[in-house]
Amino acid sequence: MKTRIVLIDDHKLFREGIKRILDFEQDFEVVAEGSDGDEALALVERYKPDVVIMDINMPHVNGVEATRQLIEAYPDTKVLILSIHDDESYVMHALQTGAMGYLLKEMDADALIEAVRVVAEGGSYLHPKVTHNLVKEYRRLVAGEGVEKEKQNQGVCRPYHLLTRRECEVLQLLADGKSNKGIADALCISEKTVKNHVSNILQKLNVNDRTQAVVVAIKNGWVEVK
Ligand SMILES: [Mg+2]
Repeated sequence: MKTRIVLIDDHKLFREGIKRILDFEQDFEVVAEGSDGDEALALVERYKPDVVIMDINMPHVNGVEATRQLIEAYPDTKVLILSIHDDESYVMHALQTGAMGYLLKEMDADALIEAVRVVAEGGSYLHPKVTHNLVKEYRRLVAGEGVEKEKQNQGVCRPYHLLTRRECEVLQLLADGKSNKGIADALCISEKTVKNHVSNILQKLNVNDRTQAVVVAIKNGWVEVK
């Protein structure tokens, strides 16, 4: 059984080139051609192809939008995007629609044939340059997350030059919104001791009340804001 293909691209000459390459293969048959997204939908409805080769930049309905609509209506259709754009935002958009492959127009004929065979069998195929860009983007995102985590971990710098370790703990609990009683319970000390710590903190930070102490602490990154 032949793999039935619909070709969608707004450039006729390009389409003819692709058709010639595909028709040369015994197991492929190009059943229809179209030049925009609207036509793509109509042709898929009419011909029920196995594979659609879809350009992105086209007048009226573009290839990404057409792919979205097409896969919604005919989930079994395998769409291979064929574009000049290799940057990851195009690729991500296209793959989110459910396309099974992303090819670049700079690729050679053998790769195109291989890609059609792979997606027809239910696999996916990305041009190596596209894969490379996706990997780069993935690394960037993962690295970004790493930096965020580092920031969170290193965000708090206790003012040990000013306060004792215990006073720092009290300051954090003040920032957490705890009352003297709450602080006493958390640290297993008496409320009287908490009051002493608090008044020492106010004095050392040169502020009048606990709210001001918390404000100074947050400004300087001395406490973790939860
Ligand atoms: Mg185009």
